[in-house]
Amino acid sequence: MSTEITSVTHPVNGAVELLGAFLIEFSGDGGKAFYADENCSGCGVCERVCLSQKIKMIDKKPVWQKTVRCFSCEACLNFCPSQSVQMKSGRFIKFYTDTNGRYSHPYATVDDIAGQKKC
Ligand code: SF4
Ligand code: SF4
Repeated sequence: MSTEITSVTHPVNGAVELLGAFLIEFSGDGGKAFYADENCSGCGVCERVCLSQKIKMIDKKPVWQKTVRCFSCEACLNFCPSQSVQMKSGRFIKFYTDTNGRYSHPYATVDDIAGQKKC
């Protein structure tokens, strides 16, 4: 049995998402919270799963565009096959991405997410 979702309202999640976006944007070095470490292979998966189109591959390395708003979905972090995407700790928050593992939904693929991207 499948259930079709026709409308979604989640004000609590919306507030949390805004707070998360604020922390990500402003906690780490003036909006540069994300970076790819030395394990990056240049595969481009992070760019594909970034629905806000904040990530652009430049010279085979991901660049998080400072002027594009992050959705705080953390798909780039969790789908990177090299676990290369990290978040810088800032004044107001400490991230532990370099020491913690990653999780993505077992039934959600990179293609599933990339297919939702608006052109
Ligand atoms: S998904 Fe990971 S390995 Fe691939 S380009 Fe992005 S940061 Fe580099
Ligand atoms: S958290 Fe989501 S929206 Fe933000 S840069 Fe990563 S993939 Fe893009």
